[in-house]
Amino acid sequence: MRILVTGGAGFIGSHLCERLLGEGNEVVCLDNFFTGSRENIAHLADRPGFSVVDHDITEPIQLEADRIFNLACPASPIHYQHNPVKTVKTNVMGAINMLGIAKRVGARILQASTSEVYGDPAEHPQRESYWGNVNPIGPRSCYDEGKRVAETLFTDYHRQHGIDIRIIRIFNTYGPRMRENDGRVVSNFIVQALKGDELTIYGSGEQTRSFCYVDDLVDGMIKLMDCESGKVHKPVNVGNPGEFSMNELALKIEAALGKKLQVRHLPLPEDDPKQRKPDISRASEMLGWVPTTTLSDGLDKTIGYFKQRLESSGNS
Ligand code: NAD
Ligand code: UDP
Repeated sequence: MRILVTGGAGFIGSHLCERLLGEGNEVVCLDNFFTGSRENIAHLADRPGFSVVDHDITEPIQLEADRIFNLACPASPIHYQHNPVKTVKTNVMGAINMLGIAKRVGARILQASTSEVYGDPAEHPQRESYWGNVNPIGPRSCYDEGKRVAETLFTDYHRQHGIDIRIIRIFNTYGPRMRENDGRVVSNFIVQALKGDELTIYGSGEQTRSFCYVDDLVDGMIKLMDCESGKVHKPVNVGNPGEFSMNELALKIEAALGKKLQVRHLPLPEDDPKQRKPDISRASEMLGWVPTTTLSDGLDKTIGYFKQRLESSGNS
């Protein structure tokens, strides 16, 4: 199959491109390289069937594909808040442009949505039936509301035009190829620990997240895309239900590195969700998907990746 991956040069996108190529598909990686990099996909450059399109999804484009994974959008708060208007455009105009391709060529299309559609959730754990608790005018709104509109657009294209859509609600995902300066908690803590800096814990550190290793996430994403039509047009949570406070995460990294780490408390960002944990019954019943990588194993692999990067840049 010919598969278009928008945001294919990003953290998750580059793993997805690699897996799809490995399964014998032709892969078109479309990216504007805002938070992605050519380095993430350098190892794929010479693989037969791999091509790269330097394009911004807020602009229309004519492409042919059997399937489209729409991942293009900065995912870390510091990056999506850098140009919030652009973030909304990427989510809304980008979704319309990619849905336009799906409609024209009859492709199946998957939207990378997010647990952020639940906002600061009052229901715990979060099931797909929960409508969320999102501030429409806060610093996170460009991302949260942008992703919510994208879900609306996908669902309306399905209802109105019969497009074969998939919506995956991704919970915090980590692993190799996150950027060192990404700003997300797993990469921040690991890089700080390896450099001998204090770990920056925002607020009390009692807020919780559920961390999914990238290989598990990509597995769930491909299973959802491959799932029989007619069954799966509603959103599906994909994440690891293990729930950890940021204080516990710091201790896990301390245990993985086998050395005492110092922490520094910084103010909690505005609208930072207090808790997050997916209910994955739908994914396990419909797709037979459950994550298999423990946080300790996933952290070991991610630490290995950052160690190598810091050593090669002479920065450890
Ligand atoms: P990332 O920032 O590493 O990747 C995003 C990619 O999209 C980058 O390569 C970037 O250059 C590209 N991009 C951004 N705006 C674009 C535009 N207008 N046109 C073309 N390309 C554009 O982030 P990621 O963690 O790999 O996330 C991928 C997707 O998964 C995103 O849609 C994100 O919202 C979603 N998601 C990620 C997580 C997570 O924990 N990583 C959680 C929930 C949802
Ligand atoms: N966080 C932290 N220290 C950091 C970066 C993040 O304590 O250096 C906290 C952040 O306030 C949030 C959690 O870690 O409560 C997860 O943040 P991240 O940006 O990784 O993901 P998101 O908030 O989008 O779930």
